[in-house]
This record gives sequence, structure tokens and C-alpha cells, in this order.
Amino acid sequence: LDEEASAKAAAATVDAGGLTIFDKIISKEIPSSIVYEDEKVLAFRDINPQAPVHVLVIPKLRDGLTQLGKAIPGHAEILGHLLYVARLVAEKEGILDGFRVVINNGPGACQSVYHLHLHVLGGRQMKWPPG
Ligand code: AMP
Repeated sequence: LDEEASAKAAAATVDAGGLTIFDKIISKEIPSSIVYEDEKVLAFRDINPQAPVHVLVIPKLRDGLTQLGKAIPGHAEILGHLLYVARLVAEKEGILDGFRVVINNGPGACQSVYHLHLHVLGGRQMKWPPG
């Protein structure tokens, strides 16, 4: 697939609300390279890294958070914790001097997995604007 075709393919993915591959990562049915774990969140390396460091931070309990746009007031605490863990991951990976946290929300942002996740990217000079 060329870049445009793959962007279109990703953009075509919609929030069906069903289980995702991340459920199998959380249950450890599918192996992942875990960077950080506590009772509420899991951070693991992206299988298709877009930078030397590319870690995903996810809530273990999806609780309706298929995407950030579905957040309600009751999600504020886990959202704050996810962001704090992104910072812990950046420190652990030695990229505190330059890292990016990304959330792709919905088809227009090429979200492909409908279980909220923060991308933590770094280890190279990041460009702006992102694509
Ligand atoms: P997004 O496109 O924002 O929904 O991001 C989903 C991310 O999940 C992509 O960057 C994928 O490379 C990543 N991903 C999909 N399957 C796996 C997996 N089994 N292990 C690690 N990362 C994965």
C-alpha cells in the first residue's frame, strides 16, 4: 500500500465497540513488550514503531473509552493517570528532553484500534506539523 492508500484504509476503521486486539494484550494472550504496568494501565511497545521509542499507554479497563471523544466526567481520573504514565515512560526510555504524546481520535485521525491509547514517541527529532 502506498501512503495515501494506507491512510484511507486506516481512516475507514470505525468504532464498532467490540473487543480489540488490546484486550488480548492486557490478558497476555498475545505477547507484547511491556514497558510499564500497574493495576490500572499497561504500557507496551508499538508493533509498528514510528520512532526509535514508540510506546502505547492504555487503560486496562476500557470502560466505554473506545476513543477520547467518548470521555465523560467519570473518566477524568484515568485520563490524568494515563498522561502521567506517559511521562513515566518518557523518563524510563530516556527521552524526557524531547517526546510527543499523541491520541488519534476517530476515522479522521486514522484511529485503528478502538480502545483508548496514548502514543509516546521519541528518540529522534520530531517534526511539526504531524501528518
Ligand atoms: P491508532 O492508529 O492510533 O489506533 O494506533 C494503534 C496502534 O496499535 C498502531 O500504532 C499499531 O501499530 C499498534 N498495534 C496494533 N497491534 C499491535 C500489537 N499486537 N502490539 C503492539 N502494537 C500494536
